[in-house]
Amino acid sequence: MGLFDLSGKAALVTGTSGGLGQAMAIGLAEAGADIVAISSSGSAQTAAAVEALGRRAFDQQADLSDADALESVFDRAVAAFGRIDILVNNAGIIRRTPAADHGRQDWYDVIDLNLNSVFFLSQMAGRHMLERGSGKIINIASMLSYQGGVNVPGYTASKHGVAGLTKALANEWAGRGIQVNAIAPGYMTTNNTAPIMADEQRYRSITERIPAGRWGVPDDLKGPVVFLASSASDYMNGHVLNVDGGWMAR
Ligand code: NAD
Repeated sequence: MGLFDLSGKAALVTGTSGGLGQAMAIGLAEAGADIVAISSSGSAQTAAAVEALGRRAFDQQADLSDADALESVFDRAVAAFGRIDILVNNAGIIRRTPAADHGRQDWYDVIDLNLNSVFFLSQMAGRHMLERGSGKIINIASMLSYQGGVNVPGYTASKHGVAGLTKALANEWAGRGIQVNAIAPGYMTTNNTAPIMADEQRYRSITERIPAGRWGVPDDLKGPVVFLASSASDYMNGHVLNVDGGWMAR
């Protein structure tokens, strides 16, 4: 299984206090990586799980929607283990209000975190990786990188942007040893989707539309993220990998 081995690699994962980011950070650590975990509320539980696997963890609390703070956040992340080999841009928020009522601040908050921080962190990681001629960047997209969604115009715009940005960066960096790809999760059980899960009718109608017959759980992303972070995917560039129980195939 050497193709998937991440021993000696340092991975920066954002949005690791719980949900998908926590599971992906633990999955990367299970494959051998040390983890820099960044989230606005801290990632104590994730860091403890990484260390229990015998890997190193650096838990950094930061608001990634503050573009002016990103450079020092990234510098601290590099300093933790001396390098960043893998960047997983996972932190994201969603604001649910109809387009006609969607507040300007909601729009800015979503775009600042879901799209602007993804570009700025990728840019910093890209410069760092270009110097060494290798690296992996994995962006977390969504089914709303393809579809319009309902009452989430800012989120949909941000996730379409993430898919486009993945391809734009891949085009520039594929020939220089850096693979930029994305994972588009389907409906997964996390805080992000709690309001939909609480709506019994909506929950049932979504579940019925998923060919796999169930919602995803955070651990469903462990395999895909390890694959895209490892040399097993060295000839994949600008791909958006659906992990959706077949949602997009329907
Ligand atoms: P979540 O709410 O459980 O986790 C979001 C994470 O982002 C948390 O760790 C939170 O602390 C962090 N975060 C929020 N604001 C931040 C900020 N300003 N600065 C730094 N960190 C911040 O949600 P999740 O479902 O695990 O979402 C993770 C990613 O997956 C998001 O990009 C989301 O859009 C995407 N996604 C989720 C689903 C789903 O069904 N749950 C589907 C498709 C895509």
